[in-house]
Amino acid sequence: MYQVWYIPKNEPTYAIMLMPGEYPEMLDVDGNFIENPDERLLMPYHTQMAHKFKTYNKKRNKDMYFTVGCSAGPDTYHRQPCIGCELRGDGDNPEAQNESISVARPLTYWNIIILSWYHRVAAMDKEGKQIISKKGEPVFNLRECTWDKDGKCEHCDDDNQDLIFGKRGFLELGSNHTQHLSTIIEDIEARCVCGGDIKIKELVCAKCKAVAIDVAAERLKQDEIDPWLASQHQCSECGHDGFLEEVIGCSNKKTCGGAERQSAWERPIMLKKTGDGTASAIKEHRVYTVDDYIIPGDYDGAEPPPLTDWLTEELLKPDDAVVFFAPPGVDAQADTYGDNPFSASSAKKDTMPYAGKKADFNEEQGGKKPKQPRLTSKPGGPRRRV
Ligand SMILES: [Zn+2]
Ligand SMILES: [Zn+2]
Ligand SMILES: [Zn+2]
Ligand SMILES: [Zn+2]
Repeated sequence: MYQVWYIPKNEPTYAIMLMPGEYPEMLDVDGNFIENPDERLLMPYHTQMAHKFKTYNKKRNKDMYFTVGCSAGPDTYHRQPCIGCELRGDGDNPEAQNESISVARPLTYWNIIILSWYHRVAAMDKEGKQIISKKGEPVFNLRECTWDKDGKCEHCDDDNQDLIFGKRGFLELGSNHTQHLSTIIEDIEARCVCGGDIKIKELVCAKCKAVAIDVAAERLKQDEIDPWLASQHQCSECGHDGFLEEVIGCSNKKTCGGAERQSAWERPIMLKKTGDGTASAIKEHRVYTVDDYIIPGDYDGAEPPPLTDWLTEELLKPDDAVVFFAPPGVDAQADTYGDNPFSASSAKKDTMPYAGKKADFNEEQGGKKPKQPRLTSKPGGPRRRV
């Protein structure tokens, strides 16, 4: 069971931990598909294109919005069947103009741990009997303990032994919010563990440590350094081909025990959302270390348990966003959109996304490269080769 968690508006009530994933980035900085898997950078989050679909609901007498994964795939020259793209005119039929379907836009999925209390509640069937899995094990659901005004939720009196702290989930962000969170991460990582500011002094060969760029002497700014860090270079001393390493210093010269970047990952962070709609922004509310974070609760003067007690191997086991957020197959898309432009045509046998239909577009034959909106700049986080 996974949970997509949404950042609370204004005053956050609890923290999350961002967990770095290792998801290959399919597109290069110009938005072109990277064919060679070895050349794809590993990103901490998964990117999936998705359409927004607006449909009128008669019963409720209002418009409803659905997010439907786009199955066209990252390779714009070998697009796979996607009903959303087809109906709005981004597929084989440019005449199609369904305006209720938005162009596919990137959503990013971040692995997180939600730092809240949960009750492990036995899952019951309609007859009130506990559900047993195929493996013969009883099934449980995690229900968040909401600590309402009495300091209790509906499950609190059941049996307090089942209370656990922390649950894996995902953060789903559009491109603006992805930029905001990336900036928050960069800001945290621009600070030293001592509280000072990190300064990059040199970029060196990862193998022989020969200086490739003397950042301090050339007085380079971060945006001038970024391109050097984002691509591989051949060392003029030893010939090693790879990413450069940074040598850092700290602004806090007197008391710093050795410059070391703070990590934005695997530590409690409170995020908040301000503003509405397209003007909304994600902001850092508070950053903790695992040691100084106090698990919310009434300890009656006693020492609160350390967070590390709850960070079990089971909790830290990463979920694969690629699997969880894979776009639906064409049949399932047809159910959502209420239309299947592929069913009446010869393309019917090709209606499984990523299976079959290939090379339906060729630029040399005068085709127009389909537009694929993407993140406007590369967000931060670990960047390593697969
Ligand atoms: Zn699509
Ligand atoms: Zn409760
Ligand atoms: Zn070298
Ligand atoms: Zn320092």
